[in-house]
This record gives sequence, structure tokens and C-alpha cells, in this order.
Amino acid sequence: SKATLTEHQDKDGVTFRDVAGLEEAQMEVKEVIDFLKNPETFTRLGAKIPKGVILVGPPGTGKTLLAKAVAGEAEVPFFSMSGSEFVEMFVGVGASRVRDLFKQAKAKAPCIIFIDEIDSIGQSRGRSAYFQGSNDERESTLNQLLTEMDGFETNSGVIVLAATNRAELLDPALLRPGRFDRHIYLELPNLHEREAIFKVHLRPIKYDESIDVSFLAAQTPGFSGADIANVCNEAALIAARSKKEQVSRQDFLDALDRIIAGLEKKSKIITPEE
Ligand code: ATP
Repeated sequence: SKATLTEHQDKDGVTFRDVAGLEEAQMEVKEVIDFLKNPETFTRLGAKIPKGVILVGPPGTGKTLLAKAVAGEAEVPFFSMSGSEFVEMFVGVGASRVRDLFKQAKAKAPCIIFIDEIDSIGQSRGRSAYFQGSNDERESTLNQLLTEMDGFETNSGVIVLAATNRAELLDPALLRPGRFDRHIYLELPNLHEREAIFKVHLRPIKYDESIDVSFLAAQTPGFSGADIANVCNEAALIAARSKKEQVSRQDFLDALDRIIAGLEKKSKIITPEE
């Protein structure tokens, strides 16, 4: 089975330097960093620090990246798991994984728990019939998550960040006060933001003076940050394959062609008329 455990404590050293665009979302997560770094500033006045924050946005817009950057900026451990791992598991396994994850995290507080694809366990119960996998398992995993969220003390130093691209599917129980009561929205990048994202991903790449970042940004409407990262890497692979010393504009154009063709294929698969 694909019951592999990817709850882990990893620090890739991601910080805000690695995140481009997303200015509003970055401002909002700065508050979370403050909660982790200086909890007493808030608690001395009797404030309760939020336990759960949901990051909502289309695929590849940087939800995971931003969650890691919060941990990196706050210099706290990052524990993560993906909701989709539980879909094919036996009943009880998901719940015990959730329990373990929170136990580990509490021992390392202050820290971040990140739950990717929370919609795969936390979709509203009425809708579950439309999805594959065991509903019992999903529900027991969801219930355990709710229990953990309610059970750990406010101001325990654990903040749970969760990501979804479809907030409207989430079970309202998840969104109640004291659980995931804050939402941060991430959007696809605009022209200016794409330029900033290109600059981040060009950093490690050896490219020549034919590269014009604003041209690349203009060529990529509708691209996510992940798509842009992919373009930069593909261009470098193309140049390397022809044993060049530097990546040129033409390598980027070839990479763009390839990636746009790939994206078109993907959108054909999900278009019902095709
Ligand atoms: P999914 O919903 O598919 O899980 P996601 O929103 O979690 O996607 P990430 O996994 O964070 O997206 O993004 C994938 C990669 O794309 C990142 O590791 C990073 O390289 C790049 N990326 C995405 N958004 C940005 C951004 N705003 N700035 C810089 N790089 C970005």
C-alpha cells in the first residue's frame, strides 16, 4: 500500500527570501511568526493565540513553500503530513498517525504542523460519497484531527497550518473557532509577481545577457509559481543537454514551448468536452 509515513521534521532552510509575490499572504503569516517567536507579547494581555490557519489557493501557488518559510523565519521545527496519504489506509491508521504527529510536535514546541491537502480528510461529510477511498477511514482521521485541535492547549506553542485548493469543500467543523478559524488566500501571480518569482528561480542558474526577466514574465500569463520554477529548471536542462556554458533566451523559449504543451494536455484531460 502507499501507507508511507511522511510526517517528518524537516528544515530546508526556506525563508521569505525564497518566496516572491504573495505580499498580502506574507504579511498575514508574519503574525504567525510573531506568535511563535514572542508568545508572551500576546498572552500577557490574556489573548489566545490562534491554533489553526488554512492556506487556500490554486495548485502551485506556494502554500507549502509559505508554510516552510514560516517555520524557517520563526526558527522552529516543521512537521508535515499530507491528507491524501490516508485515503487508502485501513481504519484507525490515519487517526493514530495524527495522534503521533501531534504528540511529537507538542514535545518540540514551539513548532509548526503542516497538513497538505486537508480537503482529502476534511471534506464535508455529505460530499464524501463523491470521492474514492474509505469514508470511515477519512472520518476517523478527521475526528482525530478535531480531537487534537481541541485537546491541545491554547498557547501551547503549536500552530497548525493546513493547505487546500478548495476551501468550499471543507467540513464546517474544521473551521469553528479554536480550530482552523483563520484563512489566508493565495492567488496566481500577476505580471509583476511572475517577474519576482522568475528572479528567485534564476538565482541558482547560470544564464547569459540575452535573458530578459520582464519578457519571460509577459510570456507566462496563468502560470503558477511552481510552473515558473519548472520553466527555469527545464531551460537549464535543455542548455545543459547541449553542453552550453550558460542558459540563453532560446533555451527558455524551448522550455516554455514544452511546458505550455504539457499544461494544455493536462487541461484537456480535465475538460469534459474533450
Ligand atoms: P499544491 O497545492 O500543488 O500542493 P502549493 O501551493 O503547496 O501547491 P508549493 O508546493 O509551495 O505549492 O510550490 C511548489 C514550488 O513552486 C515551490 O517549491 C517553489 O519552488 C515554487 N513556487 C511556488 N510559488 C512560489 C512563489 N510565490 N515564489 C517562489 N517560488 C514559488
